[in-house]
Amino acid sequence: MIIMKTDATEEDISRVIAIVEESGLRASVIRGEYQTVVGPVGDERLLDFDRLATLSGVKEAARVEAPYKLISREYARFFGEPGAHRTVVIGDVRLGNGEPVIIAGPCAVESRQQIMRIAEESKRAGAHILRGGIFKPRSSVHAFQGMGSSGLAGAEEALTWLKEAGDAFDMPVVTEVRGESMVDLVAKYVDIMHIGARNMYDQDLLAEVARKGKPVLLKRHFGASIEELLSFSEYVAAEGNKDLILCERGIVPVGKGKSYTRYTLDLSAVPVIHNETYLPVLVDPSHGTGRRDLIFDMSCASIAAGADGLMIETHYNPAEALVDGPQMVTPDELAEIIEACRTLHALKQKARRTAW
Ligand code: PEP
Ligand code: MN
Repeated sequence: MIIMKTDATEEDISRVIAIVEESGLRASVIRGEYQTVVGPVGDERLLDFDRLATLSGVKEAARVEAPYKLISREYARFFGEPGAHRTVVIGDVRLGNGEPVIIAGPCAVESRQQIMRIAEESKRAGAHILRGGIFKPRSSVHAFQGMGSSGLAGAEEALTWLKEAGDAFDMPVVTEVRGESMVDLVAKYVDIMHIGARNMYDQDLLAEVARKGKPVLLKRHFGASIEELLSFSEYVAAEGNKDLILCERGIVPVGKGKSYTRYTLDLSAVPVIHNETYLPVLVDPSHGTGRRDLIFDMSCASIAAGADGLMIETHYNPAEALVDGPQMVTPDELAEIIEACRTLHALKQKARRTAW
């Protein structure tokens, strides 16, 4: 990190950028009101920080040994992040540091009628953002892979249904982008680009999605540590995209006996991630538990843990869903969850700890 003096000239700044680039790194330049900071992105071992520190206009040049720093709370002030929490703005929805934001919708978009009806009923229940998978990651190649599996024309048609449903009920839309070849197509139709748990480690996909400049929803891989989630988030931020929403969705259960839940929802990840970064954090209790009867309690627990919102799979008739029926709630159940979460959020704001 190279912190320029308040009276550094444009020439001083350009010289620093040139040295960073000549060393084979990219320079992420943050211009504050009084001060400019140059953040080298790439292999920092190639940079001579001692030499940089002696240049005209340079106040401080220091190596920051952290797998993530662009998104870190500790270094936020250097990277032009003024508030303690970032709010990601998606149309009229403000996600982060405010009321809990609810993303609802089916696991998979199955027809125009299905997504229209779910959008209407989810909106009525109080949801803010509409979800619907078009490219589904499935463990079996023989299972329904989403409308996107019928070729690009099928994928595009399903994307138009999703967008139409979002527009009709005034909700931004989010869908998963499963591979680099689908990034352009998905970016044409959605407001948030979702990277699924299985792809959290795909740094090329992360960078490609980030370059579209739209908000990115990144889910934690079910075998990933929190540090890995944050480190891979940095790939998005390094492309200059900090409209990043992180999502806890459960990790692999331990032990040999029956685990009773699809995954183990790691709710302590929420305050831990909030401590480490200013980015908003969501919880997905649907994939986290795999059980409709647990969604109410785990949604409440997520809000109590400080989650900025929830992603909840919703269907007017879960029994007819082609994917994930057992974990879907109905719109009536969703309305109860949202009401409880609002009450809890208000309570938590009021009871906010002060002593520690
Ligand atoms: C999803 O949200 O549709 C999904 C497949 O979730 P995950 O990537 O967390 O498994
Ligand atoms: Mn699902």
